[in-house]
Amino acid sequence: MIQAQMMIGGSAASASDGAVFDAVDPFDGTAWGTVPAATAADVDAAVRAAREAFPGWRDTPGIRRAELMHRLADAIEREADRLAEWESTDNGKVIRETRPQMSFVARNVRFFAGYADKLYGRTIPLDTPTMFDYTVRRPFGVCALITAWNSPLALLANKLPPALATGNTVVIKPSEHASITTTELARIAAEVGFPPGVINVVTGDGLVGDALTRHPDVDKISFTGGGPTGRRIASNAAERLVPVSLELGGKSPNIVFADADLDRAVQGAVAGIFGAAGQTCVAGSRLLVERSAYAHVRDAVSARARQVRLGDPRDRATEMGPVANRPQFERILSIIDAARGAGATATAGGNRAEGADLERGFFIEPTVFADVDPDSTLAQEEVFGPVLAIIPFDDEAEAIRIANGTGFGLAAGVWTNDLARSFRLTNALDAGVVWVNTYRASAAQAPFGGTKQSGYGRERGEEALEDYTYVKNVMVDT
Ligand code: NAD
Repeated sequence: MIQAQMMIGGSAASASDGAVFDAVDPFDGTAWGTVPAATAADVDAAVRAAREAFPGWRDTPGIRRAELMHRLADAIEREADRLAEWESTDNGKVIRETRPQMSFVARNVRFFAGYADKLYGRTIPLDTPTMFDYTVRRPFGVCALITAWNSPLALLANKLPPALATGNTVVIKPSEHASITTTELARIAAEVGFPPGVINVVTGDGLVGDALTRHPDVDKISFTGGGPTGRRIASNAAERLVPVSLELGGKSPNIVFADADLDRAVQGAVAGIFGAAGQTCVAGSRLLVERSAYAHVRDAVSARARQVRLGDPRDRATEMGPVANRPQFERILSIIDAARGAGATATAGGNRAEGADLERGFFIEPTVFADVDPDSTLAQEEVFGPVLAIIPFDDEAEAIRIANGTGFGLAAGVWTNDLARSFRLTNALDAGVVWVNTYRASAAQAPFGGTKQSGYGRERGEEALEDYTYVKNVMVDT
């Protein structure tokens, strides 16, 4: 049993009242660790520690901040196997995905370390020749970083490195459904020499997140999670005019034209929805297929869905693990039932998965519904599970209309060999990221985020620096 501890002011910390909750392994439903349930006093202590550390960290030369970040990246690489296994145990995501994610985490830390001594401003010529004008980028101060359970460290790797590189201090609140690797990352950061108070972690449920985002000494909030929580946080932040970045959900369309390489498109569609058991914000949960290729793609995707290997997420042969927790499991099964009740036809899956190894875990069959009405609940609401809705379309205009016909705007995929069409589509789609002839690709250099109900702000890429700094303009009269 792991006994996770929080990190407050450079020291490992239990909750001030000693309370803990269980970390549950979704593969067999057993507790594999305990996690402190922070009190409001713990949240306050963490924010105070971050505040005290802020001036020192802000004024630390960028090259020194970068050195520490590279040391952190080295340590993550050294510990990557263990971190990946722990994350697979905590949220059921297969090791095939969590292990490369740890390399991605280290890569992101290095990418932003490179900016720590390159936060350049501009010099601006003015009309008055005696005056000199320049800009600098300044950190906000104490950042609250709140993450979801589906990829705890990868989501954190979108927030923590740009926050640190730009001179902010942080208080992190991971999800109560998968907290352990985040507490471990903070322990590793302390070990490699991050000054006390620069990286703090408090653990617990939404109430802890609420106390953190309402804390009067938090200067910036970055949140990854569901829309309802995002709206609550944004409204709390509005009361104090604290800037917020929101990475929320999606109902992303994967659009297949008949002229595409259909084998690749089918592979991309399957990986796009069943990767991470569909529990990614960018899941390609709506597969839009041009009518002349529809029967072929529907049958090929359904056949492949039936072959997905379910099992222990720590086994390299496993293609899809359990969903991450019981509430999630029950919610997805009830969405499947409701879709059936509303007349949708499952061409693959549609049930709790059975089999010797799967009985005790939260396994759901990879599920495909065909001929789905684009206005139905199944095609409009995020499932956040291994459930695909296939929808036919007749022409480009209809594809765009259906693709843009939800409240979300996170990601979209376009499969075509027609170059001009690919540009028309990428222009027309409401999405923060569009993939052409690929799906779910990501890179430290490439900005990521949504539009519409999928949120605002950008992570990764140079754009992320803007989320953690404000521009100060300086005018000097000589
Ligand atoms: P969630 O909104 O329930 O929880 C996210 C985090 O917010 C958790 O740490 C939770 O404890 C905390 N929280 C809950 N209530 C809070 C409150 N009132 N104030 C402050 N914090 C609070 O989401 P979830 O179930 O953990 O994650 C699933 C959702 O996250 C899905 O909608 C998914 O699409 C989204 N997601 C988005 C991205 C992205 O980058 N766009 C990535 C992953 C997940």
